[in-house]
Amino acid sequence: MVTKPERDAQTRVVDAVAAETPRHSLWETALAQLDDVAMRLQLDPGIHAILRQPERELTVAVPVVMDDGQIKVFSGYRVQHSSARGPCKGGIRYHPDVDLNEVKALAALMTWKCAVVGIPYGGAKGGVRCDPRQMSEAELYRLTRRFTTAILPIIGSRRDIPAPDVNTNPQIMAWMVDTASIIKGETTLDIVTGKPVGLGGSQGRKEATGRGVALVTGELLKRLQREPSGTRVAVQGYGNVGSETATGLYAMGCRVVAVSDISGGLYCGDGLDIPDINRHVAAHPQRLLQGYTAPGVQQITNRDLLTCDADVLIPAALEHQIHIGNAAEIRAPIIVEAANGPTTHEADEILNSRGVIVVPDILANAGGVVVSYLEWVQDLQALFWEEEEVNGRLCTIMTNSFREVWDFAQQKEVSLRLGAYMLAVARVAAAIRLRGIF
Ligand code: NAD
Repeated sequence: MVTKPERDAQTRVVDAVAAETPRHSLWETALAQLDDVAMRLQLDPGIHAILRQPERELTVAVPVVMDDGQIKVFSGYRVQHSSARGPCKGGIRYHPDVDLNEVKALAALMTWKCAVVGIPYGGAKGGVRCDPRQMSEAELYRLTRRFTTAILPIIGSRRDIPAPDVNTNPQIMAWMVDTASIIKGETTLDIVTGKPVGLGGSQGRKEATGRGVALVTGELLKRLQREPSGTRVAVQGYGNVGSETATGLYAMGCRVVAVSDISGGLYCGDGLDIPDINRHVAAHPQRLLQGYTAPGVQQITNRDLLTCDADVLIPAALEHQIHIGNAAEIRAPIIVEAANGPTTHEADEILNSRGVIVVPDILANAGGVVVSYLEWVQDLQALFWEEEEVNGRLCTIMTNSFREVWDFAQQKEVSLRLGAYMLAVARVAAAIRLRGIF
């Protein structure tokens, strides 16, 4: 259990990092990207207008009785951007920066992500504006139940299926299942994904996003005729996605030279011992890199990590970490976006003009939603697969999707980001045309 002084110390570290990070509207970035793609695709203006606006935006008040007996009211959101290709799908985030615009942008990203990997979903996202590091487990339990009740009218297995995102996890999904099941009077395992394996979850879901990032990085290295052993990788963020990505790339033979989290970063030019770091993080009360030491390992800041001498930079923390203030200083010639929206639109233009290859988030981190889809399929048929089968299907979907985006981008002579977006937007637009306007 994390003590109050530990939580306060952690908050100071996080606030210092947040103060360094410029704030842009993620929604503005999302719209700018869509507008650019719409122009290149010569998209029907009516369909463009449909895609510029989420189908449904729900804001809810979430009152919670805190441990000291006081009532605190949190703001919660669920946004469904598009259901043209199937039920909406997207995570739920607990974070102090959550607001409606951020959730709208992340919902749109989910629409493009599901389309680019060809799974039959639309896009959604949700979140509660709260600081989970300042809350006890009992407070998070009550918050989750109240939030689930508030959004229940619009979620469901055939409507909109939430999943974990930043600061939410399988335990929180289990509380969501229980709340929905009690209110509906029937077991509804298929209402969320990312559940514990003992409660309708899928083997391999926890590792899926990082595994997918490592798979697409491996595919890119093949296209560039680069050997993993000669490739130096830096990973920003060492939570679920960052740690699994580093673990996957280390297993593939890459040299992971730098990793970081909110407590700071580590660098070793000869390559870090990722299994040893994982043991340290697992034993740390807050699962942080803080305090890790080993011969030849230097302590670095997050800023140092982003600009360090590496071949591949993998942002796996939060959005807008690569911005106009640091894009010109990034030395890695390849960026694989494991986080959602880690690069601002302006920074993307700078990277493009410098010839940096960027594998966009909607492709690079789609492994999580792919295995969420596989979990949903297993729940619907009440028949569960071995991890090997899940991983095999994940590998097929990710490598095929990477190939489609790579070939399309080469053929159209555009960046991988533009190629991925053009494919995704065209697929969603085609579904809207097939359905017609009701
Ligand atoms: P997480 O909460 O498990 O980990 C986030 C990590 O980032 C932590 O190590 C934290 O310390 C670190 N961090 C936060 N701010 C930082 C900063 N300014 N500098 C350096 N490190 C910082 O979250 P996660 O599930 O690993 O998600 C990470 C990103 O990946 C998010 O953008 C999320 O939306 C995206 N994503 C997650 C999944 C998933 O399945 N979990 C799927 C797709 C995309």
